[in-house]
Amino acid sequence: MTLEDIVSLCKRRGFVYPSSDIYGGFAGVYDFGPYGVELANNLKNAWWKYMVQRRPDIVGLDSGIFMAPAIWKASGHVDGFSDPLVECKACHNRIRADHVLEELGEQADEKMTEAELNELFDKHKKDIKCPSCGKKDWGQVKAFNLLVKSNLGNLGENWDEDPSYLRGETCQGIYVNFPNVVNSTRVKIPFGIAQVGKAFRNEISPRQFIFRGREFEQMEMQYFVEPDQEMVEYEKLRQYRWDFYKTLGLNEKNLKWHKHDNLVFYAKEAYDIEYNFPFGFKELEGIHARGDYDLTQHQKGSGKDLSYFDQANDKRYVPHIIESSVGVGRMFLAVVTDAYKVDEVNGEERTFLKLDPALAPIKAAVFPLLKNKPELVAKAKEVYAQLAEHMMVEFDDNGNIGKRYRRQDEIGTPACVVIDFDSLEDDSVTVRDRDTTKQERVKISELIMKLSK
Ligand code: ATP
Repeated sequence: MTLEDIVSLCKRRGFVYPSSDIYGGFAGVYDFGPYGVELANNLKNAWWKYMVQRRPDIVGLDSGIFMAPAIWKASGHVDGFSDPLVECKACHNRIRADHVLEELGEQADEKMTEAELNELFDKHKKDIKCPSCGKKDWGQVKAFNLLVKSNLGNLGENWDEDPSYLRGETCQGIYVNFPNVVNSTRVKIPFGIAQVGKAFRNEISPRQFIFRGREFEQMEMQYFVEPDQEMVEYEKLRQYRWDFYKTLGLNEKNLKWHKHDNLVFYAKEAYDIEYNFPFGFKELEGIHARGDYDLTQHQKGSGKDLSYFDQANDKRYVPHIIESSVGVGRMFLAVVTDAYKVDEVNGEERTFLKLDPALAPIKAAVFPLLKNKPELVAKAKEVYAQLAEHMMVEFDDNGNIGKRYRRQDEIGTPACVVIDFDSLEDDSVTVRDRDTTKQERVKISELIMKLSK
């Protein structure tokens, strides 16, 4: 299976569309279609349930996308949130210097200076072809800031000099609300704040489908700990997050840890969970031990005391933070990649998504055997209405039954419910299983129980 297979299924079957499609697209932005929005919501709900609902020590938050610009200054994003960009002199296509260097086996990490990167790039530039025009004529490598600017709240003409920013990550909203949450709820350290929301980055070359977009959604949890407990809690969080992917039904063979060798100066330790995407193992989620960097930066930036008073032990400290951060789009792509299966049914090839039923966009599809028999259609609509009170279901009376099954297989629907002539007599239906294609007769009165399982 290739990335193209997945992109094509996602478009054809209403999961993901390129943004602004009828206008020729808008790079780095994607729209979730009717099934995509269901799957994405199911992933976000699964994450929320695991990270907030089941955890007495973690609370939720939904902060604004816009924040005081001083926050992005204090966090280091205005000055340092950049990727190395290099431009093709022939066609002006811009690419990420670190990514092409990595493809050539060089380690180009975020700690390198511009001069070091240029030196490394110069060494290889005769071998680097522009992916757009094929020439090998490159300019200088420059740091390109990823923050997306806006004129929100600035009505002047020179707003560009004093912009507000669309958030580049959701966690800054968590850090700055730390004192509000402490003062308005009953949390005690160690505790976490979780948030799901959009983030924006002016990615130089958005690519690999929803893996890297300019607008994307993050699910982040920041956990506030006593300084000397940081690494103990960190190890627990790493295990907890790994186990999450098992609950999603992902094949563990497609997951692995990647330890960062070159840490940013404040970090204690950093691991990514990588997934085996169609283009290889790449970062799915980051789990980082960040020390006291975030709160001390915001203390300096805001002038407010962000220390925490631990009553039980009668001591005061600035909490350290460990974080878990994952993109909805990357999780979506991992789950669809994992579920994408091809097999043979009655001598014909079929593609299906073997999604965990809890994640499937549609839990059951209801079909009248024949479209032109009003009794069957009426009965099927009745069953549909009953099920729809409990789960996402779909009604379909279009085309032959085999085609209807294939359509549901491709969107990962675990069960198809068929109403036939016998159903009118015995109040039973045929339930066909997505994975085995086996059929079984079930009483309508027992259908909800059976499907909920
Ligand atoms: P990368 O090195 O791939 O650019 P990153 O290390 O910059 O990612 P973080 O800033 O740690 O990523 O963001 C945390 C998580 O947010 C990532 O693990 C990823 O799941 C998601 N994410 C980051 N950037 C993007 C993006 N442009 N598109 C989609 N998801 C993203």
